[in-house]
Amino acid sequence: MKKMRFCGVCQSYTLSGSHCGAQTLSAHPARFNPNDPYGDYRRRVKFGG
Ligand SMILES: [Zn+2]
Repeated sequence: MKKMRFCGVCQSYTLSGSHCGAQTLSAHPARFNPNDPYGDYRRRVKFGG
C-alpha cells in the first residue's frame, strides 16, 4: 500500500513525492492524542513541578 502524500500548494492528495514544484507533505502526520495519559506528567516534568 502506497503512502498518501498531500500537496500544500494545490491542496490535493497525491502519491508523488513532489507536486506543483514543491515537496509534498505526509498525509499521515504523527498522531496527536489529546487524551494522552502521560501528557500531564510530561508537562509537570518539563516545568519542574
Ligand atoms: Zn500540487
